[in-house]
Amino acid sequence: LQRNPHEPEFQQAVHEVLEAIAPVVEVQPELARDGILERLVEPERQIMFRVPWLDDAGTVRVNRGYRVQFSSVLGPYKGGLRFHPTVNLSIVKFLGFEQIFKNALTGQGIGGAKGGSDFDPHGRSDAEIMRFCQSFMNELYRHLGEHTDVPAGDIGVGAREIGYLFGQYRKITNRHESGMFTGKGVQWGGAEVRTEATGYGAVFFAQEMLAVAGDSLEGKRVAVSGSGNVATYAIEKAYQLGATPITASDSSGTIVDEDGIDLAVLKQVKEIDRRRISAYLDHRPRATFIEGGRPWRTAVDVAIPSATQNELDGDDARALVDSGVRVVVEGANMPSTPEAVDAFRAAGVLFGPGKAANAGGVATSALEMSQNASRQRWGFADSENKLREIMKNVHDAAFAAAERYGHPGDYVVGANAAGFERVARAMLAQGVI
Ligand code: NDP
Repeated sequence: LQRNPHEPEFQQAVHEVLEAIAPVVEVQPELARDGILERLVEPERQIMFRVPWLDDAGTVRVNRGYRVQFSSVLGPYKGGLRFHPTVNLSIVKFLGFEQIFKNALTGQGIGGAKGGSDFDPHGRSDAEIMRFCQSFMNELYRHLGEHTDVPAGDIGVGAREIGYLFGQYRKITNRHESGMFTGKGVQWGGAEVRTEATGYGAVFFAQEMLAVAGDSLEGKRVAVSGSGNVATYAIEKAYQLGATPITASDSSGTIVDEDGIDLAVLKQVKEIDRRRISAYLDHRPRATFIEGGRPWRTAVDVAIPSATQNELDGDDARALVDSGVRVVVEGANMPSTPEAVDAFRAAGVLFGPGKAANAGGVATSALEMSQNASRQRWGFADSENKLREIMKNVHDAAFAAAERYGHPGDYVVGANAAGFERVARAMLAQGVI
């Protein structure tokens, strides 16, 4: 960690993993042999590059692009691309590091990576987004391939951006190589349910945790943060399973709708009109907007943070606990600060960490890769059943590992331990490389 003094998010992620896997190394010291831990915290390869592009006024803009290829021990590098002004090497490394264990946990044979740029898509025209994506891919393409590195979306990279990125890769390489990107449109190699998978998967995970406790989502009040890909489909699935989501947010503030978030309105405002979330009130005047606020001061049974890292701190966690929250599942990556995680665990809240709870997205990406490789297309219902089964397996693997290492019910220990075991065994088998 001394090697990376200016990378607080990366250090936070490493601390969490090393702490959680301590019981594994105690019982099986051979899994820390041959410098496994030292090798794991150093990416196999990091790529940083210039992304120059022309805005609509004809001015040259320059952003920085990243791809951190963390581990390919279990399969080709796999992990999303994030376009957001806060993106830096620390954030990309934390996400890539987490991705190793998450992907291992899915059991799908995929390695860990992450990438992106400090480009801010907000307020940019379609043409600007396209030119940026093309310039980004002009460098990134040489590092990708279905057996090498397979990116997907993340914050700021949705269906539109993936289309432009894939199009440029196809143009440069003269290959319609479906398996080099996931999250594609279903008409050109994309998988059914990939769009919905992370949000749906997080709710399936909550359902599994509640089932173990003899409960269900039926009748539960739910707080969701964010209003992007993960949040939207977490809200959709929560409704389908009988719960009522009452919040959604973006970086400008939070909507609380006691009648239940109107999903059609939310999609209209965020996906079609691409406006700030306060525009929700134009359609639903009875709702309230908390400017600059987060959803965690609303009394709920279930919380699903689905926006970004460190968006739920210790005070937020204590407020949620005091108002009776029963379940927290992380739709986003590392949305809870370490203090918040401690508060939830101390209060006996069922806590599903992101690397388990939001693994449905990447698991469905792996299904997309299988379909691309075999030129098959699976239907929606079939794909959703597979996702449900995968989330049950992820839950059960984390649950069993927590028991095995003497921390029953602790999904933080369980998820990290189960992921680490798979990665460490493969590293041992493949030698010091
Ligand atoms: P989107 O870009 O679709 O949505 C992100 C949402 O979070 C937006 O509502 C955005 O608001 C809000 N947000 C982003 N940054 C901030 C911030 N600094 N403060 C407050 N709100 C913020 O991204 P996704 O839904 O795809 O991703 C959300 C989270 O889920 C991320 O942590 C991502 O890594 C994680 N994840 C995503 C997966 C996927 O399949 N998409 C898979 C696994 C994890 P605004 O528009 O105002 O910025």
